[in-house]
Parts: sequence; structure tokens; C-alpha cells
Amino acid sequence: MKLELSKVVRGCRLGVLTGIGQTGQHSLEVPGCLLYTRCATVPHLTQDTLHTLSSLPAVTQVTLDSLAEHYEVLEEFKEGVRKFSGLHDTALYCSLQDPAATCPTGHITNKTVSVWGSGGRIELTVAKFMAMQAAILPDFYQSMADGETWQANTSRKRVRKAVDRTLAHLDECLILHHKTQELKQAEIFGVVEGGDIREERVRSARETAKRPVAGFVLDGFQSAAMEQDLRSQLITAVTTELPQEKPRLLQGVGRPDEVIECVEAGVDLFEGFFPFQVTERGCALCFNYIIVPDPETAGTSPPTVLESNGESPAVEKLKENGDSSPENMTQFELNLKDTRYREDFCPLVEGCGCYCCKNHKRAYIHHLLVTNELLAGVLLMLHNTAHYLGFFRALREAMAVDRLQDFKTRVLQ
Ligand SMILES: [Zn+2]
Repeated sequence: MKLELSKVVRGCRLGVLTGIGQTGQHSLEVPGCLLYTRCATVPHLTQDTLHTLSSLPAVTQVTLDSLAEHYEVLEEFKEGVRKFSGLHDTALYCSLQDPAATCPTGHITNKTVSVWGSGGRIELTVAKFMAMQAAILPDFYQSMADGETWQANTSRKRVRKAVDRTLAHLDECLILHHKTQELKQAEIFGVVEGGDIREERVRSARETAKRPVAGFVLDGFQSAAMEQDLRSQLITAVTTELPQEKPRLLQGVGRPDEVIECVEAGVDLFEGFFPFQVTERGCALCFNYIIVPDPETAGTSPPTVLESNGESPAVEKLKENGDSSPENMTQFELNLKDTRYREDFCPLVEGCGCYCCKNHKRAYIHHLLVTNELLAGVLLMLHNTAHYLGFFRALREAMAVDRLQDFKTRVLQ
């Protein structure tokens, strides 16, 4: 794969990642996100329902923890998880952990990491990790990593050990990668660890960059793990050490405000799990990302999403109705379980082109949620995915016309 940057402004990178996939037929615009899946399927959606959405990311993320239990079946199947799961034409990226799942810590050794399936813990050596990759057949994947140093107050000694182990795992992965016929067309991303210790982050980035990797995974920056200022400083320290021509994928960050901050720190790719988390709490993304037109063209454009809906920002509603707010709800979403939507006959977002917004009203989604109908998840997932992809599209457009600050102001409004 090849990253072609069309613009770099104060660390923000706009471009296209081309040549992804076995025949190099896929490309992905950056900054962008991958398509999130669990057990290699987008939660709540069939492939046909999913493909009612336009402009889906060209790369689907599968997670080793959700597939590890099916390793023997996949190995016997021999044609990889893309065919096994009936995925349409897409490139595949395989990560170690599901970014939307929490897994128990404390099970890492010098030679192994653990993932958790429905049947419990599965311990992986590098050999087993690579055998699983050979059965999954991704187009690119992260190397095995010790990613347990994201919690604040992890000791310097433990962080150093995580960096050393992760580099050792990468070296071992690279040796096996080149020996494995099934992975001949695939590429490896090296993982940058280092917790919240700047020197270890820099060391991890420098050493990983010396290896023959196709790109970099920035691990241990999860939303809950650290303050945004510290995260931005550390990511900037890391990306400064990385070669310009290779992509940087950030794990575990999906909130729109945090995405923008991380793009400013030099990140290219994100995991697309945020719409799924919003769906699971019965919420709909409704934040505004459409920037007001230039003064020269003012007055000729249609009203923006929230203006046309007559909405006040969702965060104000939260304060009014704090009791019914689901835990972890962000300012970017509406809680459709709230009784205020029982007789709200507006679409989730006025002007949204998704199937849900074109065919259904908020009152109906509210009804589906309170009666526990599975269709609620289907409709919310469709809308939330569409809205989130629209956010990334608008982010790239704003960067292209040098209006990232306006865009940021609009999203944070
Ligand atoms: Zn919609």
C-alpha cells in the first residue's frame, strides 16, 4: 500500500491510501475510519442492509478476539474470513482486540498475550497469533503487542517492558510473516506502545520505524485512559518520529472531538466503533458538522442540520433530563429512549439520506426501543454509521479548503 498525501497543514494530513488488498484494488481516503465489525459482521446489519449506505470505507476491521474461537474452522475452510462471513468486496484489517469490548488485564507474559472469547481466555504465542492470521487472511494486520499499559500510573518499569516485548513480538511476527505462504500478499503494521511516558513513546516509535512495516498502530490512547491534552502531546511526539509516507492508525479513539484533536496530532486512520457504541445505548448521532459557507456565498446554501431541525444542542437536553441519560452518553447524540421523543415526528436528522431517516420518525424509533424490538438496533446502526462517515467526509472537505478551525468550532458547538 502507498500513502499519497495531498496536503499537510500543521501536522494534519490529507491524502489517499492506495494499493490496499491482494490486487491493490482498494483505496481509502485519510483522515478516515475503518468499518467496524464483530465476528466479521457489522453488528445489527446484514450485508444487504449495510450496502444501502453509500461511500462505505474500503477497509473492514475484523478483530482477532472475536475470531480466535473459530480458528480451527477457519483453518479448515482455508479461504479466509472474508469468504467465510460473506463480506462483499472489501479489504480486511485484523486487530488484536475489539475496541468496543473491555477485556480483563493481568494475563500477559513475556511470550504470550491473551484474548477473550465467549468461552473464556485464549492465550496466544506469536506462533499461534500468526497461524490465526494465516487462517483469517487479512490484507493487513497489527503485530502482536503488549497493550496493557494504558492505565494511568502504570510504572515506568512496566511500560518499558511493554515496549520491549512489543518490539520482540514484532520481530518474531516479521520472521514468520515472510515464511508464511498464505500471508505473502498481506502487510504488517507495527504497534507503538509506551503508556503515558513520553520517552518510551518516542523509543517505541523510533524502533518500530526501523522495522520493515507498512504502517503503524498507535495503541494505549483509549478515550478513558488519558486527558486529551496529554494524548495530543504524546501522539505528536510519536508521529514526529514516524516516516511521513506510512499511515498511522489510532486504536480506541472514536469521539468526534477527540478524532479532530488526534488528526491535528498527525493521525490518519481510526477504528469505526463509535457508531456501534452510540447504537448500543439507544442513541442517535445528531451533531452538526456542516460548516457555514464562506461570506461570499452566504445566503445561498440550505440550512444546516440542527438549524433546520429546530434543535438546541443535545448537551443542554442532557442537563435538563439527566436521570434518563444512559451512562457514557456524549454531547453528540440524542437519547431516543427519552419520553420527549414519544410524539416527535421528525426524522433523526433532517436531510440525512440514510434509510432510517428517509422512512421513519423519532417517535417510531422511541417505540421500538421501549418495546425492545431488534429493529431499533438495525435502524440506529444504519443512521449512526451514515452520520459518522459523513463527519469524516466533511472533515476531509474542510481540510481541503483550509477550514479545519471552522469545522472544529462547528462540531464542538
Ligand atoms: Zn439518518
